[in-house]
Order: sequence, then C-alpha cells, then structure tokens
Amino acid sequence: MPTDTSHPAGADVPAHTPAEHDTHPGSQPALQVQDLVYSYGERRALDGVSFDVAPGEIFGLLGPNGSGKTTLFSILSTLKRPQGGSAHIFGLDVTGAADRVRAVLGVAFQHPSIDPQLTCTENLHHQGHLYGQRGSALATRSAELLERFGLADRAGDRAGTLSGGMQRRLELAKTLLHQPRILVLDEPATGLDVSARGLLWEDLKRLQGETGVTIVLTTHLMQEADRCDRLAVMNRGKIAVIGSPAALKDEIGGEVLHIEAESPDVLAVDIQKRFGHEVTAVDGEVRLEDARAHRLVPELIEAFPGRVRSVRISPPTLEDVFLHATGHTFHEEESDSPANGKSA
Ligand code: ADP
Ligand code: MG
Repeated sequence: MPTDTSHPAGADVPAHTPAEHDTHPGSQPALQVQDLVYSYGERRALDGVSFDVAPGEIFGLLGPNGSGKTTLFSILSTLKRPQGGSAHIFGLDVTGAADRVRAVLGVAFQHPSIDPQLTCTENLHHQGHLYGQRGSALATRSAELLERFGLADRAGDRAGTLSGGMQRRLELAKTLLHQPRILVLDEPATGLDVSARGLLWEDLKRLQGETGVTIVLTTHLMQEADRCDRLAVMNRGKIAVIGSPAALKDEIGGEVLHIEAESPDVLAVDIQKRFGHEVTAVDGEVRLEDARAHRLVPELIEAFPGRVRSVRISPPTLEDVFLHATGHTFHEEESDSPANGKSA
C-alpha cells in the first residue's frame, strides 16, 4: 500500500491524497500524477501510477530495471501520451498545453543530449535558440550557467573534451536555460563515477536551495534515492510505497538481523516456529526485522547450535524497504526483469 507520511523538513504540507489539493488552492502541487497507465502492446509498463510532488522537492522514482521509470519520465516530459490517467505540472495537463508545459519544464534524458562537436557555449546557445532566446540576454544567461556549474573556464572547449561529470553538468545547465520551474531527469547519475555523482548531488541540492526548482529524477541506485526528499518506490509498473527515505526505513522497524546459515530456507522456517517472528530467506541469508533485534542474538545461537554461521545487525536500508514492500529483493527483480539488459 502506498503511504505518504512525510515531506521535507520545513515544508508545511500535510499528508494528503492528490484529490485533496483541489480544496487547497494555495498548495498546488508541482506535479500531480493520477492513475497513469501505459502499455507497449501486451506489456503494461505503467499500471495505475499516482503520486504528487510539492514545489521545491527533490523527488525520486526508485525502481529496478524495467519497473517503468523511463516510460513515466517520457510521459512527464511530453514525449509519450498516457493511455489512461493524467499528469499535471503546476496545474497544466501534460497532454494538453504542451507548449506551456514545456516552458516550465526542463528535461534531461538518460543519455546526454549535448553535442560533443560544439563548444560548451555553443551547446547552450543552440538550446536557447530552440526556446526563442537570442542575443545578449542569451549570452549572459549562458555565461551565468557555465559559471554556476564550474564550467566557465571550459566555455570555449568542445563538449566532447569534458569529463563525464562535466558533461552532466553542462546537460543540467542546458535544461535550466529557459528557467524551468521543474526539472525531470532520467537516471542523471548513470555512467558517473562516485565522486562525479557526489558533485552532481551537490549541484542538485544547491539548485534546489538557490532557485527553489522542483526536481523529479529516476534512479535504480539506493545511494541516490537516499538523498531525495521523498521517494516513490516503483516495481513492475506500480508504486510500492511512497515517503521520505528516513520514514520508509523507520516504518519497517529499528534493526535488521542478517543471519548467514548453511540452509537459510530451513533455518528461516525454524526461527519463525520457535520465536514467532516474521523472517525471510533472501540472497542466501535469513533476515529478521525487529525494533530490538540485537537482543535475540544469544537466544538464536543457543537455540540453533552450529546452524548459524554469522550474524550481522544493521539499520534498515532502502533494500529492506523494497523487500518489505514487494516481497522480493531489488537485485532479484533486476535479474528477473524481462527488460533486463535492453531497457533504456
Ligand atoms: P525502466 O526505465 O524502469 O527500466 P522502462 O519504462 O524502460 O523501465 O520499461 C518498462 C517496461 O516496458 C519494461 O518491461 C520494458 O521492457 C518495457 N518497454 C520499455 N520500452 C519499450 C518499448 N519501446 N517497446 C516495448 N516494451 C518496452
Ligand atoms: Mg530507464
């Protein structure tokens, strides 16, 4: 069941269902998605997806390969028309006033769309022309953006000579040229190494703080999802759960015991019988969630002599959240996915 328990600190927005916004005209969501449906032939890629995003949030769509993220992204960025349901960006229907939607929307695809042969400045000017910008205003805005993203000294260099991280920043600069109110980014950190990813996130947070822009991004990386204000966890075209990363983790309890054993399936059943705890055997280990799981360790070892190889205790992670909400691991889902290896 999707739950929507929290908003970023300071955002005075009560828990709500999308429909309730109609009665609160002052709190128009930046993005409102209701019952979206999209199929490719027989294959249902989006199966009734609903959520909304408050202005100024960084909202993540976390899901394994094939869960429908890019399809959803394509609808939000006006490239695909939904076959059912609706999506509104600051009250504008994405299927209706496409020009007005595009004016408030900045879009970055999973594969960067900058031209490697053009210089950084030329890439931005090119984009500006697409949005009807010209002359000194465009030149000033481009220079400001290159400055903001630490690319001022590379302004005259061909984009193809930039590092992967710099290309991503140029891509972001490009999406911001027409001062959109909402950015929609498909897997922005894919292909970046850990440090470039860190810099990208610094940029996103700074943008959020300085401009109040709303950011909606897709990811299949837990570390990235952990940095979002709120998340919708996607699985097989549906939303499994929604909330802030902290709230989602809190909901599933205080501690997770990971028990390594010779026969995890058998041990899981035996633990459940003996202690009455909900346990699962996944990825070759037994997992047990409990507010005070550490207290069970001595009992467990004594009850099953020789059968427990090792025990590890961790706070719950988004992996655990995914497992809890879907009944299978994120990793399992990725390898089972029909889209595995061919999804864009
Ligand atoms: P994600 O971005 O989360 O990997 P996608 O939206 O790309 O997910 O894919 C969702 C589902 O739709 C997958 O099962 C995928 O195989 C299928 N799909 C995506 N694009 C196409 C397409 N062009 N034709 C047919 N099936 C597609
Ligand atoms: Mg994708």
